[in-house]
Amino acid sequence: MDVGAEYMEFVKAKTILTKVKYGSEWYGVDYNMNLYRGCPHGCIYCDSRSNCYHIDHFDIPKGKENALLLLESELSKKKDHGVVGIGSMSDTYNPCELQYEQTRGALKLLSKYNYGVSIDTKSDLILRDLDLLKEINAKNNVIIKFTITTPKDELSKIIEPHVCVSSKRLEAIKILSDNGIFTGIMMNPVLPFITDKEEDIKELVRLAHESGAKFIQTFMGMTLRENQRDYYYEMLDKHFKGLKEKYRKYYGERYNCAVPNYKTLYKVFTEECDKYGILYNMKEIIKAYKKEIKDHEQISLF
Ligand code: SF4
Repeated sequence: MDVGAEYMEFVKAKTILTKVKYGSEWYGVDYNMNLYRGCPHGCIYCDSRSNCYHIDHFDIPKGKENALLLLESELSKKKDHGVVGIGSMSDTYNPCELQYEQTRGALKLLSKYNYGVSIDTKSDLILRDLDLLKEINAKNNVIIKFTITTPKDELSKIIEPHVCVSSKRLEAIKILSDNGIFTGIMMNPVLPFITDKEEDIKELVRLAHESGAKFIQTFMGMTLRENQRDYYYEMLDKHFKGLKEKYRKYYGERYNCAVPNYKTLYKVFTEECDKYGILYNMKEIIKAYKKEIKDHEQISLF
C-alpha cells in the first residue's frame, strides 16, 4: 500500500448521513456519507474540485469532527436500514485514514447497527478493512467500486498521480473477490483522446475478468465545468501537449463530453463484457449484489 500517515485538518459537521433523494437506483445505495472533505489523490479530471462544492484547498483532506459520534447517533435512530454509500465526493481511503481510522470506525458502526455498505475508492488501503467488510458481508449487502480508467500503470501515474496504480487496484479487486466481496470497476471518466483507445478498453475488461470483477460501469466520457476545466487544461498542457486546443475545438464549454467514437466504443465494451460474463447494466448489478440478502429474507420467512 503506497500510503503513509499525514497531517490532517478537521472541520465541523452537524450531520453525517444523507438519505438519497433519487431512490436507490444508483448502485442500490440508500444513504450517502463522506467522512472527509477534500482528497489528496490529485486526479487531473476530478469533478469534486469544482467551485460549486465550495471545498477550499481541495487537495488537503479534512476530517469531519465527531464524525463517528454523529454516525452512531444517526444510525441508532433510523428505522430504515439500508446500504450506506461512502466516498462519492472524496476517496475515504486517503493517506490520513491510515492514522485516523475514520472509515474503519464507520465500518464497525455499520456492522454493529446492521447496515450494508457501498464504497467508492481508488486505494488498496481498503484491504486493511477486509475483516470488517467480510463481517458486514456475512449479514448484509456489500459492494465495492474501484475506479480504474486505464489498464496502463504509466498513464494512471500521470492522470491519478497520488494513489496506487491500476495494477495495484486490480490486485485489490482480486483479493476482495476471492474473499466473497462483490467488487467491480467504475470506468469513469473515459478521457477523450487519452483513455478512449479501443485496445485499452478491451484490455481493461480482460484484466477485470482475470481479477474476478463482477461488473464494470461506464458513461464513456467525462464532465467538465468551471475551475475543474481550468485545472484539467493546465494538466493537459503539462502532460499532453496540444490536447487542450483539441478539446476546446471539439467541446467548447460543454459540460457533458462524450468520447468522439462513443457508440462504437460502447458496443465494443459491452461485447467484451458479455464475452466474460461481466455485468454493466445498473439494474442487473444491483440485483446481483443484493440477491443473497433477498434469498436470506425469503428463507427466514419460511
Ligand atoms: S480520488 Fe476521486 S475525489 Fe479524489 S482526487 Fe481522484 S477523482 Fe477526486
